[in-house]
Amino acid sequence: MDCEICHGTRWKSVEIDGVERLVRCDCWRSAVVDRLLDEAKIPKRYDHAELSTFKLKDGSSPPEAFRYASNFVAAFPVVDRGLLFYGPHGVGKTHLAVGILKEAIRSKGARGYFFETRDLLRLVRDTYNRSVDETEMSVLAPVLNADLLVLDDLGAEKSSEWVQETLGLVVNTRYNAKRATIFTSNLDDDLPNTDLRSFIYQLGARTRSRLKEMCHWVKIIGPDYRDVGIDATDREIADWEKNSPASPKNLPADARPKSMARARLKSRDSGTQYELNWSGGKAGSK
Ligand SMILES: [Zn+2]
Repeated sequence: MDCEICHGTRWKSVEIDGVERLVRCDCWRSAVVDRLLDEAKIPKRYDHAELSTFKLKDGSSPPEAFRYASNFVAAFPVVDRGLLFYGPHGVGKTHLAVGILKEAIRSKGARGYFFETRDLLRLVRDTYNRSVDETEMSVLAPVLNADLLVLDDLGAEKSSEWVQETLGLVVNTRYNAKRATIFTSNLDDDLPNTDLRSFIYQLGARTRSRLKEMCHWVKIIGPDYRDVGIDATDREIADWEKNSPASPKNLPADARPKSMARARLKSRDSGTQYELNWSGGKAGSK
């Protein structure tokens, strides 16, 4: 349907200092935003994921992770660092990353791109197959060139020399081009180098240290929203902590997250520790 202001011309006249000028109509802007959102390839399941729908259990103080997200969007594209949200499954890392991406597209017209790390690696690997028309570079180009990239679930793919090299290429290229990237990961940085769940084991020391240079590391800890529901009450969270097999309280001792106290000490050099109303972490330190 034609726009009521411009009747489909996409231009409207405004008076600036007494002179009539033509400027882009608002409908043009919203058409551009719609196209950019479409091109960002955000999976359908994140349709609801917005910064405005990101809720945290602790409503009292402005949550650190959310503040990083808002500040990033406000400053974009003049940002010297991206963000790396890490922590256990289901605490809202991808929700936050997608919310940032959408907001940067809407408010700044960013050319953004969302990719799950595992899918990206699969697509690149597929190009080695002769029956596939695309080249490695045609798959990687939008990832390397996007104004803002969300690379979701870093480290979900079983590590290998090839995986490390391919991810290293993405990370390095974006670093050198000063393009902002938002990563999410279930990996941990408080584990020994030999642990499968550590950044250094999965990505290699070089890429990990590059990530330290190019991102603010924000650790998010909390109950799994997919278990407790996004609007869980304190009571429900307490029940989850007590009863869920996924609760750190119920994990075997060697799989439990480090105590909050030790993690906080660590966070002085490794990024930001943000506690998502997670009393289980404190209890685990006893
Ligand atoms: Zn219009």
